[in-house]
Amino acid sequence: MTRLARRSFLVCCLVFFSGSLFAQEDIRFGIATVRPKAHALTQWAPLGVALNKAFPEYSISIEVFTPAEIQAAVSARQIDFVLASPSSYLLMANRSGLSAPLVTLSNIEQVRPINEFGGVIFTRADTTNIQTLADVAGQTTAISTKGSFAGFEVQAYELSRLGINPDKDMQLVTVGMPQDKVVESVLSGKATVGFVRTGLLESMAGEGALDLSKINVLNRQQLTGYPFAVSTPLYPEWPLSAMPHTSKDVQRKIVSFLLTLHENKKLTDLLGIHGFDVPADYSSVAKLLRDLRLPPFDIAPTFTVSDVMARYRWPIAIGLIALSMIVLLGFFLLWANRRLASEKMLVQTQASKLNERKKQYQQLAEDMPLFLVTFTPDGKLTYLNDALLKFLAMPASQVVGKNFFDLICDQQCEPLKERLNLLTPVDSLASHQQHYGIPEAAAIDHQWIIRGLFDDAGNLSSFQAVGEDVSERKLAEQEIRNLAFYDTLTKLPNRRLLMDRLLLALTGSARTAQYGAVLFLDMDRFKTLNDTLGHDCGDLLLIEVAARIQGCVRSIDTVARLGGDEFVVLLEEVDESPREASQKVAHIAEKIRAALAVPYQLKGNEQHSSPSIGVSLFLGVEQAVDVILKQADMAMYQAKDSGRNAVRFFDPIMQMEVENRAALEADLRHAISDQQLYLYYQIQVDGERRPLGAEALLRWIHPVRGMVSPVEFIPIAEESALILEIGGWVLDNACQQLQLWSHSEAARELTLAVNVSAQQFKQHDFVERVSAAIRFYQIPASRLKLELTESVVLNDVVDVVTKMHALKALGVSLSMDDFGTGYSSLSYLKQLPLDQIKIDQSFVRDIATDPNDAVMVQTMIDLAQNFRLNVIAEGVETEAQLDFLKANGCMAYQGYFFSKPLPIKQFEALL
Ligand code: C2E
Ligand code: MG
Ligand code: MG
Repeated sequence: MTRLARRSFLVCCLVFFSGSLFAQEDIRFGIATVRPKAHALTQWAPLGVALNKAFPEYSISIEVFTPAEIQAAVSARQIDFVLASPSSYLLMANRSGLSAPLVTLSNIEQVRPINEFGGVIFTRADTTNIQTLADVAGQTTAISTKGSFAGFEVQAYELSRLGINPDKDMQLVTVGMPQDKVVESVLSGKATVGFVRTGLLESMAGEGALDLSKINVLNRQQLTGYPFAVSTPLYPEWPLSAMPHTSKDVQRKIVSFLLTLHENKKLTDLLGIHGFDVPADYSSVAKLLRDLRLPPFDIAPTFTVSDVMARYRWPIAIGLIALSMIVLLGFFLLWANRRLASEKMLVQTQASKLNERKKQYQQLAEDMPLFLVTFTPDGKLTYLNDALLKFLAMPASQVVGKNFFDLICDQQCEPLKERLNLLTPVDSLASHQQHYGIPEAAAIDHQWIIRGLFDDAGNLSSFQAVGEDVSERKLAEQEIRNLAFYDTLTKLPNRRLLMDRLLLALTGSARTAQYGAVLFLDMDRFKTLNDTLGHDCGDLLLIEVAARIQGCVRSIDTVARLGGDEFVVLLEEVDESPREASQKVAHIAEKIRAALAVPYQLKGNEQHSSPSIGVSLFLGVEQAVDVILKQADMAMYQAKDSGRNAVRFFDPIMQMEVENRAALEADLRHAISDQQLYLYYQIQVDGERRPLGAEALLRWIHPVRGMVSPVEFIPIAEESALILEIGGWVLDNACQQLQLWSHSEAARELTLAVNVSAQQFKQHDFVERVSAAIRFYQIPASRLKLELTESVVLNDVVDVVTKMHALKALGVSLSMDDFGTGYSSLSYLKQLPLDQIKIDQSFVRDIATDPNDAVMVQTMIDLAQNFRLNVIAEGVETEAQLDFLKANGCMAYQGYFFSKPLPIKQFEALL
């Protein structure tokens, strides 16, 4: 039988007897063990014996349990005192309310008490790659069991401080108890690292089971007085505690016994311990368990908010501030992101719009009829639009890169280049006219506007140019100029251009002191020719006339057409001497006259025409342009008066006449208002010299001029509208006179003839005026006779005839004055509703002496009788004339032979 077996047997017997002999109070000691129970029981049995002996009143038993069994025993309150490892104790104290440690176990080693222990982490001494704790990560590690406080938990706690978690970072190999197996695993190479409790290595070495030199303890602590190698801090030895139900008295007795146990050297030697000490501080163990979250601290404690707040106030505050800043930052980033997104969208839409615009402008540039081009400062083309390409008749590929100046203006570009060089950012525009004289084609003109483009620094970056084909516009301008200054029919300068040239000629004459001349031409009877042959023939004649005149003068002279059949020739620098100048001009005028008198071939017909030419010389600028023209015009009239087809120089006497005429006209305007007009009456008689009536003849008695003859002033009045006023005055006065006569015995039956001028008769309300006068003066219309001349009829025959019928209808009689002097013809005599013809005095004058006139007068009287018209002869001055007229059947007479025209008083006296 071994020593251990013998001791166990003895202990059992003692325990049995001591319990069965007395009926005492039971006190049970529960002792935890990780070693075989028999082994532990043998160790602790002597303690039971000693206790029973010391306290006979109690029946004290010692029982050993595995760690799991002792917990169950504690929960079931089957024991009164508990000796367990520190971790196990803390677990049970927490769960089952064990008392605070009463005493702490004190071991013995080489006669010294040791009441602390720790963990050892080791490798084989020949493992060179693991020298520090940090090196154990990833290593295969042998452990006895995970539940072992000194065999695993203290090592794990130590490694956790370095951030190594054995469960995760190491390959654990659990070899079970006793821990000698861990040492064997490492030595045999099954594991590289081993975890054991302090003292094991030394005890194995003591037993001869281990050579310590083969072992390397990692993180070896230098603890003075501690006999074992250790890798971790030291923790207190096992505590003894009491169950809550254990009486304090028993506890006191037991504690006092245990605290003095070390004095019983025999017993402690049997137990293999030093004894028991006052209780150690187990807070380091509790901290380890708490930090490793091992039972009983494996369940997270329930905290209240205030707990957390109390403990983590500042971290929480800082955390919250940080969080809110992060949230704010998050919001800001979100907002910024949104904004960025919307701005991006905006930029994209703008970009697409811009692109659209760009396309539009590009299209516009392409479709534009104008030329568009851009080029670099040295002329290299960078862009041309279609219009320009079309004009150049080249594809874009051939043109881009070429020189603008070479393409557009070739050799004539220097002035343009110089102008472009002078451009500045302020004055950046230049224009350029390009004329292309193209052989055998119409010339082409281009108008360019060129703009220099400058960068912000004011450096010229490029040019852009817009060009336009202005050929048509130039042609149109030329056309307008032609229309404004030239006569469309003959292409000769018109009045306007003539006046300009005449003005220049005057200054030229002043400068050279040479005479010039103006020739005023009017084609004779052109109106008749135009009316009879038609306007197209008239036009042909005028064109021919223009050509013939031009053929007679030098190229420096101006031939102009004023309109109608009037032409003017301006001759410059004729001569310094007036005599010589007159002769030369007369010669040229005569040449023109002769040339224009040559018959014309118009549409296969030969036509005769001739000019009347008036000439006016000028020297210097004394005379006004229009005066010179007027003088030539006057001279032309003189030529006409002289029988046409003639040349006449303006003469000053004629000028005077003209001026007189003008003065007369001016005076005539006041004649009515100033009561300078009078009616004279010339009697008209029958064959028996009985008064039939009178002709009212107008007299103007001017305060200075005296009596002015109607032959003088009536034509002047007829040239202006004055005749209408005067005619109205005459008609009114004649009617008034008839009214007076209607009350007079002698004059009641008389008719009164009033002369009516063509203009007066033309008035649209002439008939109404006559009718109104008759009504106003309440006179018998038959007493009023109107004397019309053939010029009246020459106007609008239909209108004249209508008016004459209307007058006849009123009862007014109509007489044809100066019959035989005009175009008197049978045709109109037939049409016109006349009552009388008045044979002109020019025929009467010579009837007694000129057989031709006699025949004429005879014919006129016959004619009148055939048409049943009354006949009166005027200008009868002699008895012979009267006799001839009487003999030929004339019915009435007027003339000096009977009486001159007389003022009313004298006339009435004559009656
Ligand atoms: P007329 O109508 O042929 O008038 C006849 C002219 O012959 C008058 O001249 C008259 O004085 C003149 N006379 C009459 N008998 C003789 C004669 O025996 N021998 C000569 N040598 N002459 C004679 P007068 O008064 O100088 O008028 C000239 C013309 O002026 C008129 O020619 C008429 O055409 C025009 N006239 C006169 N008064 C008026 C008028 O009130 N209205 C218009 N429209 N014309 C008028
Ligand atoms: Mg008359
Ligand atoms: Mg007459």
